[in-house]
Amino acid sequence: MPDIRFSDTMRERMTLSFEVFPPKTEKGREKLPRVLDELNDFHPDYISCTYGAGGSNVRENRSVMHLIRERTQACTHFTCIGLTREGVREQLQYYLETGVDHILALRGDFPFGWTGTRGDFAHASDLVGYIRSEFGDRFEIAVAAAPGGHVDCISEDDDISWLRHKQDLGADYIITQLCYDLEHFKVWRDKLDKAGITIPIDVGIMPVTTKNGVMTQCFSRNACAVPRDLALVLTHHWFDQDPEGNELPEVKAAFREEGLSYSADLLNRYLTLGINGIHLYALNRADDVREVLKRSGFRV
Ligand code: FAD
Repeated sequence: MPDIRFSDTMRERMTLSFEVFPPKTEKGREKLPRVLDELNDFHPDYISCTYGAGGSNVRENRSVMHLIRERTQACTHFTCIGLTREGVREQLQYYLETGVDHILALRGDFPFGWTGTRGDFAHASDLVGYIRSEFGDRFEIAVAAAPGGHVDCISEDDDISWLRHKQDLGADYIITQLCYDLEHFKVWRDKLDKAGITIPIDVGIMPVTTKNGVMTQCFSRNACAVPRDLALVLTHHWFDQDPEGNELPEVKAAFREEGLSYSADLLNRYLTLGINGIHLYALNRADDVREVLKRSGFRV
């Protein structure tokens, strides 16, 4: 069991965590230690690393876990796509043996063309229950949730009932999908309260820096609510190529500038809301994180 449960810390004070991914290029791999050093300068409570559904990047995830562990607390994302019970047990045992006892238990996004997990577990809740039955309290377990409901859900209420199920099976806290719409988040959080969901919530924010980044993260898989003030950032800088198709770097720079200020302002609005933690999707970009934190004044 972790010495201090992160979820207990979340109940006592506002936490800060970052999310990175295993780099896909040699250049990215070379840069990552420096990125982690820079992120660590902000004294995060932990840094998490994504895990490719179907175990496509297990080795890379383990290397990143090692780099994070050398600096601070590490949390691995873990999906049950394509895994048997035995496969899950072996991998989790490996994490424990290498000092990783904090996990974000996910179903995972289906690889292209898949319609199910093709494994022993159909849902993240099955994974949470299995981890608790196999490993007791040895893992701190986070689970994912999306304000408004996951894209595949029957209804928001149904989705919330499954989130409650994850809590009942032993989840320690929630990390949310990108939450740009604070008003939408407030309504959702009230519904969680009514459903008896009492575990702490880590609110996910991705620094807004590029049009493609926002569009991809919000719409490729997640259907995130986009509030008017974020829509304005997109609209103000939408045309970032001239009529001949040449890129306009000054428009991209202006987007980043307005996007970072929007992100810092959003962060501050969340801080005044009294949430448990902020999970910044750092996406291996320490400079963006630095700017958002500097402009917001949080942890600097
Ligand atoms: P589930 O909780 O299983 O929910 C999926 C759907 O099934 C929902 O519609 C829900 O309402 C429904 N449902 C849930 N439980 C049950 C049940 N017992 N019976 C019937 N229906 C049920 N993906 C990756 O592949 N790798 C990552 O590293 C990764 N990191 C992420 C980090 C964060 C912070 C977040 C928020 C998401 C991340 N994802 C990642 C994406 C995530 O895997 C997807 O959103 C995925 O589609 C659903 O995962 P889940 O754990 O929410 O699934």
